[in-house]
Amino acid sequence: MAEFADIIIDISHEKVDRPFQYRIPERLKGQVHAGCQVDVPFGKGNVIRSGYVVDLSDKPGFALEKIKEIAGVRAGSVSAESQLIQVAWWMKERYGSTMNQALKTVLPVKQQVKQQEKRWIRCLIGRKELEEQIGEAAKKKYRARERLLKAFRELDIIPYEMAVGQLSLTPSSIKPLAEKGIIALEAVTDYRDPAKGFLRDGIHAEKKVELNDEQRNTAEAICGEYDQGIRKTYLIHGITGSGKTEIYMELIEHVIGQGKEVILLIPEISLTYQTVVRFCIRFGSQVSFINSKLSQGERYDQFERAKKGEIRIMIGPRSALFTPFKNLGLIIMDEEHEGAYKSEITPRYHARETAQYRAHLSGASVILGSATPLVETYAKASHGIYGYFRITKRAKKNSILPKVQVVDMRKELKEGNRSVFSRLLKGLVEEKLANREQVMLFLNRRGYSQFLSCRSCGEAIKCPHCDVTLTLHQDNRLRCHYCGYQIPRPSLCPACASPYLAPFGTGTQKVEAMVREAFPGARTLRMDLDTTAKKGGHEEILAAFAGHEADILIGTQMIVKGHDFPAVTLVGILAADVSLYAPDYRCGERTFQLLTQAAGRAGRDEKEGQVVIQTYSPEHYCIEAAAAQDYEGFYRREMEYRRLLSYPPACVLMTLMVSSLREELAEKGMEAALRAVKAFGSREIQKGELKLIGPVNAAVYKLNDLYRKILYMKCGNYDILIRIRNYVEAELDGGAFSRQVSVLFDII
Ligand code: ADP
Ligand code: ZN
Ligand code: ZN
Repeated sequence: MAEFADIIIDISHEKVDRPFQYRIPERLKGQVHAGCQVDVPFGKGNVIRSGYVVDLSDKPGFALEKIKEIAGVRAGSVSAESQLIQVAWWMKERYGSTMNQALKTVLPVKQQVKQQEKRWIRCLIGRKELEEQIGEAAKKKYRARERLLKAFRELDIIPYEMAVGQLSLTPSSIKPLAEKGIIALEAVTDYRDPAKGFLRDGIHAEKKVELNDEQRNTAEAICGEYDQGIRKTYLIHGITGSGKTEIYMELIEHVIGQGKEVILLIPEISLTYQTVVRFCIRFGSQVSFINSKLSQGERYDQFERAKKGEIRIMIGPRSALFTPFKNLGLIIMDEEHEGAYKSEITPRYHARETAQYRAHLSGASVILGSATPLVETYAKASHGIYGYFRITKRAKKNSILPKVQVVDMRKELKEGNRSVFSRLLKGLVEEKLANREQVMLFLNRRGYSQFLSCRSCGEAIKCPHCDVTLTLHQDNRLRCHYCGYQIPRPSLCPACASPYLAPFGTGTQKVEAMVREAFPGARTLRMDLDTTAKKGGHEEILAAFAGHEADILIGTQMIVKGHDFPAVTLVGILAADVSLYAPDYRCGERTFQLLTQAAGRAGRDEKEGQVVIQTYSPEHYCIEAAAAQDYEGFYRREMEYRRLLSYPPACVLMTLMVSSLREELAEKGMEAALRAVKAFGSREIQKGELKLIGPVNAAVYKLNDLYRKILYMKCGNYDILIRIRNYVEAELDGGAFSRQVSVLFDII
């Protein structure tokens, strides 16, 4: 049992670096754990103060006589901080990190905002003048200003976070409007009843939609169990446009009606302006938003508000999970299949599991929502571990699922069509353009960028720091999409000096050029990493397309998420199978998700939607299932494959990556790690419970100058893998080359 406890007095991000160590007296042993609130003598006068235990240890960090004793453990209600520290402890154990890293993940950075109180923007002008101002902003191409003013068509007051998040405004573009008396920044005011002082005349809060049967049954069943005190995880599996957001709002209303609080996680890219408005109209100032564009101070501010009980609903990306609500009653995770829910930095936590742990601490339920749930999630639902609700119809009247057609591109080629557009797609695009309807063309980008290769020696030009080809851009520069390295396009091959360098592959820019050639006169917009790189670029393109400033939107993954464009009646997927052959066991699932979501973009309104999937492998089950919008069919085949090859959820997969700037050290490090794994897990390996695959070079072997080797470990038992991880870490720590080799574990 631990003898000592690390304690921080003021709970804040900065204090975490220097906790104070105390001794746990005999009578309190067993009661002290991470997150618990204790009384301790502090400072010269030994005044008793309250603090939080953040870590436990067996060894004293100082001379024993200098260490004071904990005076007592506070009983009673568990504070939000206490819960968050417990969550951090759990994350550290589960995902492998230091307690310090875990604490910094859950605690916001304390930073005062200059004008702390101002968080609402009110429109001071009437409708007629507003339209004039919008016209003027449009004429002068003040895009940010135009976006802000348009937002005031529905609401009199908008949250400041929406302006800097979904509308991408900077304080400098807000200020001139305030100076001219068009808008005013307002302090926190109680607008709990959104109808009062919140909405434009003529817009009514009672526009609240009437739930259809499927929606109502789902909401009532969950609320019913909630009122009986049942707390668990539910999966709401509803096709795109089936009205899941309306169900969430119903559940939120129910839970806050009982004096509790709610966290709603939405991947940032899907949290659109329309969604923010919907929540503002329904919940007024009880709801708050965070996003990555808020400053540290603004974020801290939001969390403080949550702590003081000024807000009851927090909406945001995965870090919103750490909102310090005292009385959390529900966590909802929209689009639970999204990759953005997994943290890429240590601790590499997954928001789904972490949400479940936090919910467990605070007695909350968890709702997972998706049109294409992860295989892992669906497996749990079908075994009855999660409650399950299926919604099969689109919610809007007259909105039906689009008609999907698959084109075999091998056949096109055989019959003499060498263009990237099949004859079917070309004909349909022409038809839609003639009807003044909109088209989205989706380019599955992975592996599909353009690079330069030499026709004499066959070499492709690669990044000197990473093991990938450089991508050719329209400005005639070659760029690395991993590390940002760039050079001007060379005229001679760097390897053999041959002048015959030619571009390979098809990028979005090239597709745009081909679209212009194939459909002269059509107005196009392109959305990819390049066009959205500048601030507000993303919003600008979406707003322009929504305003019908273009007929065809060409883009990558980004265009398939969350946005509602009622005039889009055709979605073309140019090469569906590109992502099928990525070196990752989840690539089939990702392809299915992407295709299903891309297809879901068509025909969101009353006009019938059409989808064309172009592919070189029409018989692949992921493509077949996506075309038929058949999730269950996809799941059956995918599970067979995962069982056959022992991939999650059929077992737990842990990766161990060893990296070093020196190739031979990466090799030696991996050898040592492998020895440690084999030593510790010898029994499990013999019994066949633990399977090792590799070590192999990482898919991108050299990244940012680091050589990377990977070992895969598959096991049915999570705990065994965690014990192996702890053992290998301890073994390698302080080893011969530990300074030049880094070891990273990830549980998938
Ligand atoms: P999802 O989150 O499942 O994609 P949304 O909740 O965004 O779906 O709903 C899709 C569209 O259908 C929205 O425009 C929404 O206003 C509308 N909608 C949702 N439920 C209903 C309903 N019961 N009646 C009419 N329209 C609805
Ligand atoms: Zn060459
Ligand atoms: Zn690079």
